Amino acid sequence: MKPEQVSISLGDDYPEIRDSVRRICADFPNEYWKKLDESEAYPKEFVDALTRAGYLGALIPEEYGGAGLPLRAAGVVLEECHAGGCYAAAAHAQMYTMGSVLRHGSPEQKAKYLPGIARGELRLQAFGVTEPTTGTDTTKLKTRAVLVKSGGGDYYEITGQKVWTSRALHSDLMLLLARTTPLAEVKKKTEGLSVFLVDIRECLGKGLEIRPLAAMINHHATEVFMDGMRVPAANLVGGEGKGFRCILDGMNAERILVSHESIGDARWFVRVASRYATERIVFDRPIGQNQGIQFPIARAYASMQAAEMMLRKAAALFQAGLPCGEDANIAKLLASEASWEAAEACMQTHGGFGFAREYHVERRWREARISRIAPISTNLVLAYVAEHVLGMPRSY
Ligand SMILES: Cc1cc2nc3c(=O)[nH]c(=O)nc-3n(C[C@H](O)[C@H](O)[C@H](O)COP(=O)(O)OP(=O)(O)OC[C@H]3O[C@@H](n4cnc5c(N)ncnc54)[C@H](O)[C@@H]3O)c2cc1C
Repeated sequence: MKPEQVSISLGDDYPEIRDSVRRICADFPNEYWKKLDESEAYPKEFVDALTRAGYLGALIPEEYGGAGLPLRAAGVVLEECHAGGCYAAAAHAQMYTMGSVLRHGSPEQKAKYLPGIARGELRLQAFGVTEPTTGTDTTKLKTRAVLVKSGGGDYYEITGQKVWTSRALHSDLMLLLARTTPLAEVKKKTEGLSVFLVDIRECLGKGLEIRPLAAMINHHATEVFMDGMRVPAANLVGGEGKGFRCILDGMNAERILVSHESIGDARWFVRVASRYATERIVFDRPIGQNQGIQFPIARAYASMQAAEMMLRKAAALFQAGLPCGEDANIAKLLASEASWEAAEACMQTHGGFGFAREYHVERRWREARISRIAPISTNLVLAYVAEHVLGMPRSY
């Protein structure tokens, strides 16, 4: 298929999915999320409800017990959750982390893990890439995996540290990126990295320690410490030294899915801000009668609509199997900016009450901020566009 043959649907596509997700979200009102935020607890009941409905296995092919839906449909699930005031980011990795196993796993790995993930019996929620000392410079990561030949079964001994590994304390499995060949010994710095499927249940206390990381939002962030952790050689995904490609491959899907969450957030902020602006009376008239209040909300709505169009394009290209790096990155950039613009407009519209926890704006405002930093920061998206789309020199 050529790009000019790809079509994009407008309006509320996947109406049944939207309706069903809205019904699920109705059972998890603002108060539910406020309590979790205050106690830093995991939204187990919400994740269970999404799992029961089959949504966390949306992208797993039917032959492995999943729903085999297109990426756009999975994105719609996440978008509706966020537009309904819920925080699907607490579970979204289950959707895209398994993509590496699906695309690069051996037939045995797929048969062993995917059906359990699709049924929700096995949680693959953790993705360990970022390290404290190397950050965005992924190929310099220091976690080291060494193959040990053993009569009882070959295994990798892994030592290193990860940071910001979300949900590792709420996951059975973790996809881990580690270096199997030292940087000094590879021709290209992207070589010599490998992906492992770590069974957290088996490794905890045996070379693996996970500590919660206090953070601005209730995202269940952790620090992961590995010291001689043993992972069976059979759990290497995609071949030794081929890990970077394995991870990179899933990035467009990841960017598209998180952009849907940002669009959902923007919809929530615009709706809540417009309503408050219409109801709040100051100087004997609704504050929304003032253009100083109206315009930022209207502008945020326009930004959201523009980002949403770009997102539909990226998802359609992805589904057609066409290159979509440019579109996925630009969609991510615009969606994250639009959601922040809407968050700011909503906060400003609420004045002092924006700070009151019972209005839920400050919590959602904090949550919306993450999209400009993780899973990839705005600067790095711009660097991609400058280098790979516009042909300018690499800046790093
Ligand atoms: C709540 C939360 C959850 C996360 N979950 C996960 C997870 O589950 N798994 C995981 O692996 N990681 C996770 N991360 C990590 C996240 O992906 C990184 O924080 C993010 O990619 C940025 O990396 P860094 O924090 O090391 O920033 P750094 O790399 O230290 O960069 C700091 C700043 O400098 C900028 N910068 C750096 N280099 C350049 C350059 N060459 N040009 C221009 N600007 C530059 C960056 O854009 C950024 O703004 C999470 C982070 C947060 C906050």
